[in-house]
Amino acid sequence: MSFTKIVHDIRARQKIKSNPPDRPTAVWVGKDMLDGRPIASLTVIFQTTGCRWNNCTMCGYVYDSAKKPPSHDDLMKQFEYAMSRCKDEEFIVKIFTSGSFFDDGEIDTGTREEMLSRLGKDTRVKKVIAETRPEYVTGERLSVAVSALGKPFEVAIGLETSNDMIRKDCINKGFSFSDFRDAGNIAREHGVTVKAYLLLKPVFLSEGAAINDMISSISETSPHAGTISVNLCNVQRGTLVDEMFERGDYRPPWLWSAVEVLKKGKETAPGTIIMSDPVGAGSARGPHNCGKCDDDVASAIRIFSLTQDTGVFNGLDCQCRELWKKVVELEDSTFGSTLVK
Ligand code: SF4
Ligand SMILES: [Zn+2]
Repeated sequence: MSFTKIVHDIRARQKIKSNPPDRPTAVWVGKDMLDGRPIASLTVIFQTTGCRWNNCTMCGYVYDSAKKPPSHDDLMKQFEYAMSRCKDEEFIVKIFTSGSFFDDGEIDTGTREEMLSRLGKDTRVKKVIAETRPEYVTGERLSVAVSALGKPFEVAIGLETSNDMIRKDCINKGFSFSDFRDAGNIAREHGVTVKAYLLLKPVFLSEGAAINDMISSISETSPHAGTISVNLCNVQRGTLVDEMFERGDYRPPWLWSAVEVLKKGKETAPGTIIMSDPVGAGSARGPHNCGKCDDDVASAIRIFSLTQDTGVFNGLDCQCRELWKKVVELEDSTFGSTLVK
């Protein structure tokens, strides 16, 4: 049975909730970095028909997508609703669609152009970041986007790892490192910056192999991306990761592993902004340590992301750190079984 068929069978068993078509899937205000300083960020997840690829082992975003394709008016209402949420005087806007902002099947050219030109006219908005798969990054789409927006623009691509074998055999991502590099080159030709999302600990990797994968991925990706965001794998419902987690065959990464990756990654790529938002930290389905130190370690990771100062990790310690070191040392010999929950 192929990997894609397994993922599709899991997807077919899920119940999908439906949301009003004129409301985004989610919108929230947080913090990010702009030109080396912290700034408010408005994150919007538009409700579209969702990702055309829809095959990745860790991705449950498909369940957030619209049952019927939303109209131009629906999407503009989603946009207006989202823009009314941020009260800060200046902020950046991060656009997600549970798929690709540049896929015309999710958001057509006219709607995309109208959103970007409204963001361009809004003086509170200092920069826009939009997530997309690399195959939708074309010169034509970027030219239209750049002239509609007229202010700093960034494309964010879920590269996950620089290792083609891990991306294929553990994530089922469906594109290669060179696809990512090509999209990045097109972006740069149009004055658009690039952000890469990496994934710490997809299925089938031991804790140590996952750490090494991230450290080499940061080093190999940094020449092609000004910002790298390391996602710490969390267990989303209705995914292969979820099935393996329920059987005891998968444990999300330790927060100590994230600290190690951020410290070593920053050492290897000092000129690159390296970030991580430890979503779900401390829970069984999120990245976690022993339960006692999770809040402190997650908060250090958040501070590092805003300051880029690895010194924030210096004072951190807990009894579980020794256990984590043992897991990293021994898990390669367990043929994929997790040693500690
Ligand atoms: S490409 Fe992105 S949105 Fe699509 S299935 Fe993979 S992780 Fe999910
Ligand atoms: Zn601990």
